Amino acid sequence: MISPVLPTYARAKVAFERGEGTRVYTAEGESYLDFGAGVAVTSCGHCHPHLVAALTEQASKIWHTSNLYQMPGQEKLARRLIEHSFADTVFFTNSGAEALECSIKMARKYQSAIGHPERYRLITFEGAFHGRTLATIAAGGQAKYLEGFGPKVDGFDQVPFGDHEALKAAIGPATAGILIEPVQGEGGIRPVPPQCLRGLRALCDAHGLLLIYDEVQCGIGRTGKLFAYEWSGAQPDIMAIAKGIGGGFPIGACLATEKAAQGMTAGTHGSTFGGNPLGTAVANAVLDVMLAPGFLESVQQRALTLKQKLASLKDRHPEVIAEVRGEGLMMGLKCKVPNTALQQAALDQHLLVIGAGDNVVRLLPPLIVSDADIAEAVDKLDRACRAIAAKSAA
Ligand SMILES: *Cc1c(COP(=O)(O)O)cnc(C)c1O
Repeated sequence: MISPVLPTYARAKVAFERGEGTRVYTAEGESYLDFGAGVAVTSCGHCHPHLVAALTEQASKIWHTSNLYQMPGQEKLARRLIEHSFADTVFFTNSGAEALECSIKMARKYQSAIGHPERYRLITFEGAFHGRTLATIAAGGQAKYLEGFGPKVDGFDQVPFGDHEALKAAIGPATAGILIEPVQGEGGIRPVPPQCLRGLRALCDAHGLLLIYDEVQCGIGRTGKLFAYEWSGAQPDIMAIAKGIGGGFPIGACLATEKAAQGMTAGTHGSTFGGNPLGTAVANAVLDVMLAPGFLESVQQRALTLKQKLASLKDRHPEVIAEVRGEGLMMGLKCKVPNTALQQAALDQHLLVIGAGDNVVRLLPPLIVSDADIAEAVDKLDRACRAIAAKSAA
């Protein structure tokens, strides 16, 4: 018999009742160290007092009005995102996939508005993940997500990750832009080298294409800058964010330059819930935390500690870990054993980590993680690796 909740997820056999900072607790009071952050979502940790205050205060004022009226919370959030990014304007959504849908529609509309309606295709990269709507599974191009869901939405041309010649060859008269994650997340924590992002920027400029970043996972402080692209200096025309900006409340956004957004006039796009007062109150509180003096620098310091400890973990367990990669607090362990085995062994040690493509285990702790948390997590991973080694020796 089918389960009451549609069985599309492979869930671990554990449920959490409450959380605080980097820890989550079962109803029985068992504690787990959270190095997954609900897939890079709980950026400020669980139940951060400033976020709880922002949400409860807003909840006692007004929850929802719709986008038929002025939205002061949205305006404030948009202004702050603009002030700290390349963007001139922002559209709010409830999720990452919707932020990507807006980005894709905007790129097409831009080309149409400047007299090139024939340019509607986006170039994407193997291993990409952009969401689960019909258009975003086509953009991601992964067979396992497309299979059985009918004809793939047209308009996406995928090239191998890091293949510059294939990329240049893929640009044609129908190309509208290039869509890329500055650090691939689901694909297995693969950072795009800064010089490659700069190369993409130059290529887009030379061909009249829009450069679109998907920073749904790598944005909002995850790499130690508010946005991952800042490390390269190569600015996009359009960028999707979500996950960490809500700190656990569902909200996403599509950021754009005035030029790229020129086709998106009144009536061309919309969302009932997008940017509702609860979501923007929480996202503004998240930005208060991220933009506080020294916060991003502390993320960079913690990231260095984590990277060093993971490098020595790999040296101690070459039979389990093949490679350590990533940027900031977005790290991947490429495994020699099935990544699910390391994930389960970590869970047995009460450490939450997340699987990814390319047989990788992802470490995405809340950005408020301490050095002591990092030492504890690596210690738990050390035990997990030893347990795997002991099992395979037996
Ligand atoms: C999670 C993710 C998405 C999709 O976000 P949803 O909120 O699940 O729709 C898109 N792009 C990237 C890079 C992601 O990590």
